[in-house]
Amino acid sequence: TAAIIDGKMIAEKIRQEVTEEVTRLKSQTGGKVPGLAVVLVGSRKDSETYVRSKKKACKEVGIASFGEDLPESSSEEDVLAVVRKFNEDPSVHGILIQLPLPKHMNEEKVLAAVSVEKDVDGFHPLNIGKLAMQGRTPLFVPCTPKGCIELLLRSNVDIKGKHAVVIGRSNVVGTPAAMLLQRHQATVTVVHSYTPNPAEVTRRADIVIAAVGVAHLVGGDWIKPGAVVIDVGINPIEDPSAKKGYRLVGDVCFKEACMKASAITPVPGGVGPMTIAMLLSNTLDSAKRAYGLIN
Ligand code: NAD
Repeated sequence: TAAIIDGKMIAEKIRQEVTEEVTRLKSQTGGKVPGLAVVLVGSRKDSETYVRSKKKACKEVGIASFGEDLPESSSEEDVLAVVRKFNEDPSVHGILIQLPLPKHMNEEKVLAAVSVEKDVDGFHPLNIGKLAMQGRTPLFVPCTPKGCIELLLRSNVDIKGKHAVVIGRSNVVGTPAAMLLQRHQATVTVVHSYTPNPAEVTRRADIVIAAVGVAHLVGGDWIKPGAVVIDVGINPIEDPSAKKGYRLVGDVCFKEACMKASAITPVPGGVGPMTIAMLLSNTLDSAKRAYGLIN
């Protein structure tokens, strides 16, 4: 059966590395620390939880966090004003807009207002554009797909020359994951909701990244023997025996895939913990760049 790629352990290792580097940065700059600003608009419970855990993670590694919580009724101009304030604040090295924004706001406009130099989520069109171009280097790469690649690299999975299939083409995960795999010299196929036979295409993959949002979509018969499977999906399914009445599962049928794959990420404990680890690492990089320690 497949080896389990332990995202929780790998993320913990990265957090330790970030902690050490924050200490080094401090001593090299006479006490400066990286700073992350999180902009939350409205009071969605899930967004509030994400923001809380991001701030907690910052604290644990010595990154200063700044927050601005705006009411749901705020205008787009109110949000843009907050973004501008953080753009100009030299103690802030990363700015994160917690998505989704309320419907009356133009997400594209707000994301584009974030300074490219502080775009630690990697969603600014200039950073995405550079990610898509040969010979260009984006300042930041989106955290979840970056976390997927980091899991492969730290598990010694060869990407070069391999056939990778990405299931899903969202701006946040699927599309940047495909671009990243290509930068690592994989041959990449993207499967999406209009692909007639996604199972047949996925069966040809040496590496599968599933980012769909459909519980257990990817069965064991989608997996080529020996493939490496990265499951990004986080899907609640009813479970009366669970405390909250539900539990979280991936896009991949874990039990079935385990019988076919050579390595696989579990849900939870796979990609999930990597996203925040990459956010911390992006924020650290941004601070190092601001203080002239890296290019
Ligand atoms: P999304 O809804 O924006 O995109 C889903 C994509 O899947 C679309 O491109 C669609 O074309 C494709 N798709 C839908 N049904 C399909 C089907 N039957 N066959 C093939 N393709 C199909 O979702 P997203 O934001 O990319 O998130 C995907 C999943 O990853 C969700 O479960 C989400 O919760 C999870 N997620 C996890 C993390 C993390 O681990 N930190 C971060 C982001 C998203």
